[in-house]
Amino acid sequence: MSAVVLELNDICKTYPGVVGETEDSLGRKAVLANVNLSLQEGEIYGFVGLNGAGKTTCIKIALGLTNQDKGEVRIFGQPVNSTNIKKIGFSPEKPGFYDFLKGEEVLDFSVRLLGFPVNSEAKKKVLEKTGLWGDRRKMVSAYSKGMQQRLALAAAMLHNPEVYILDEPGSGLDPLGRRNIKEIILDLKRAGKTIFFSTHILADISEICDRIGIIHEGRMVFEGGIQEFNPRGIEPEKRFVEIIEAEMSKSSAILS
Ligand code: ADP
Repeated sequence: MSAVVLELNDICKTYPGVVGETEDSLGRKAVLANVNLSLQEGEIYGFVGLNGAGKTTCIKIALGLTNQDKGEVRIFGQPVNSTNIKKIGFSPEKPGFYDFLKGEEVLDFSVRLLGFPVNSEAKKKVLEKTGLWGDRRKMVSAYSKGMQQRLALAAAMLHNPEVYILDEPGSGLDPLGRRNIKEIILDLKRAGKTIFFSTHILADISEICDRIGIIHEGRMVFEGGIQEFNPRGIEPEKRFVEIIEAEMSKSSAILS
């Protein structure tokens, strides 16, 4: 059995509530309720859920970018610390870059921020892999959304981490751009890396993932292999909707 590289154990999270939302007695809205999730070494894990289901919040907690109210995150079996967090490469859903930097300067900046020296060879490799080598001297302000997404992926890869957490890496990309991202993810897996990515694109999940996790209204409602997710081999999107609708009817039965 392969090692667990990342675990979320019983994670609960609330945010300050907004008028009109269901809140607890302290006026806080529950966003994650006892989330358990585990990422195995060498796998591609697809994390799926409707908008607002809690995917980004889970990712932020896994990376220590926001605190959970309860529960524990472990990276390679240890609580998150300044050393093991560097084993993870992260690309956010909406990458934000300083407009006054060129593409390659963004990479220099991000690798230095992690405390690593700039390595020209490694930089060339990730720029070529993401198809940005020819655009490396352009200002990021002139990059399209797709190019920015690819630059964020290049930044995540630059220090050659063991594990990748990619928040909607295909969002905003055209079909060719998405194919490019999928190929990069598969390449990373072939190089022995572990990849966790969130997506709305169910077809991508079935195509490249070993396992998937589905989150609905802050609760994990499925975690397992592709066969287990879709035993009848129907359209993956239909299977996802079936699972979500079953959850919705369970919650309306509880309320009625
Ligand atoms: P997803 O990534 O699945 O779309 P998110 O994790 O971004 O979902 O959001 C989950 C829920 O938490 C949503 O209801 C969202 O409005 C709420 N939320 C996220 N961030 C904040 C925040 N900083 N303050 C208050 N509510 C938030």
